[in-house]
Amino acid sequence: MDINQFTAAMTARGFVTDGKLFCGVYEGYPLSVTYLKGSSGGKTTFSMEAMFEQKVPRKMFKQVRQRTRGYSATQRGSAAAGSGMVAAGAVAGGALGAAIAMNSTQNSALPQCFSITSTVQDFEPAFDGLVACTVAVAREFGLMVPALCPICRQPGCDSYAYYGGAYRPVHGHCVQTDSYRQQEKVQLNEATGSYGTGVIGAVLGGVVGALPTVLLIVFLNVISAWLCALIPLGAYFGYKLLRGRLSGPVPLLSVILVSLLMVPVTEYLSYAFIFLREIGYFLTPADYLTLFQEYAADMIVELGKTLLFVGLGVVIVFGIIRRGNSHTWQQASFSAATLRPMNPPMAGPAAPPPCRPKHRPHTKEV
Ligand SMILES: [Zn+2]
Repeated sequence: MDINQFTAAMTARGFVTDGKLFCGVYEGYPLSVTYLKGSSGGKTTFSMEAMFEQKVPRKMFKQVRQRTRGYSATQRGSAAAGSGMVAAGAVAGGALGAAIAMNSTQNSALPQCFSITSTVQDFEPAFDGLVACTVAVAREFGLMVPALCPICRQPGCDSYAYYGGAYRPVHGHCVQTDSYRQQEKVQLNEATGSYGTGVIGAVLGGVVGALPTVLLIVFLNVISAWLCALIPLGAYFGYKLLRGRLSGPVPLLSVILVSLLMVPVTEYLSYAFIFLREIGYFLTPADYLTLFQEYAADMIVELGKTLLFVGLGVVIVFGIIRRGNSHTWQQASFSAATLRPMNPPMAGPAAPPPCRPKHRPHTKEV
């Protein structure tokens, strides 16, 4: 199935979508389905996720695996476990294969179904069967849908919405308020944010981020390369603090450039302070260069170590920056777009207290 056929099949089941992610409710269990790949008249790959109140027991994973084998022509299954993630597959050359991966450290189940059927008519019953199976097993294991609204942490949810990476019960007014605030924040940043002040902030932040490394050498005589990971983080927070505009490539580029610039500066200052303490002489940058030429091999290794940890910091910052203005806007719009009233509402206070949105990590620009 291609994305259009898939979308048609999902909307026919009452799922709402933003393109590749589909949200719907099956027998009281909110589910999100992600279309991964597929072709017209060929194999379709998607993942499905449900969030529960409780941790998903590993036994349930086994159960789902066994039951979904019915969708595979052969009875072959495989399982692998590692770092809290359990995955199994029962994919074979039959009409439909199903595989389930479940992260038992989080309250979510993620079954994956691989359809190798060629017609939409074959896909639809298989999809329905897989959903029914998964929900039935979840019910047998007593897994409940989260009762608290993720925004205000109060019970009495009256709607469903995609929030914090899952389709889940929420207060309708909480999601509306939160989406509005997030979008307002983005608009403010777009209107008043400046690349100029951001870059200045990144430079200052990079200096602050390098301080722990230098101070540790000055006061404790400890050289710690991993502290250098703080340089890119400092640069990013500096960029944000001085109201840098959070869109386009400028935020990440300034973080990378400032970090690269700070590496030799940090190295130089470290050596300068070591010399000052040991022989009472403060190295000039020229001295440092002479020293560098003399002990190039050792000092390049040092620089390499520092760069490695700076790189680590950049990777972390990249993860945060990816959630820039357009991402925040999208998330907020999608939360609002997937908002559906729940009938009947969950038990809770008749009139829930007004929500004070606490921005959740996925929408928050840290
Ligand atoms: Zn709420």
